[in-house]
Amino acid sequence: MLIFTDEHLKRAGIKSLSKWCSYCSKPLAEYPLIMNDDAGLAVFHAACAAALATDLIVDLYTFFRPPKPYQQLFVLDPTGEHQAPSS
Ligand SMILES: [Zn+2]
Repeated sequence: MLIFTDEHLKRAGIKSLSKWCSYCSKPLAEYPLIMNDDAGLAVFHAACAAALATDLIVDLYTFFRPPKPYQQLFVLDPTGEHQAPSS
């Protein structure tokens, strides 16, 4: 959820901008903010949300395509046609 105004902040259940960013731990202080309520309530500076999303994408890429000498453990394959290499 994108938070641009005091009204958005109020509707998101955040009482004030003095709360802390869940990523950098600095005060939220100003808009825009991004809230993620999928796994608990987390509010981020917009730049911190972008940094977190980038970190997650990089981590997921490494998870599915690990560097040598690690072997691939999981394959995204909704059809079930491919299998991960066995060790
Ligand atoms: Zn932050």
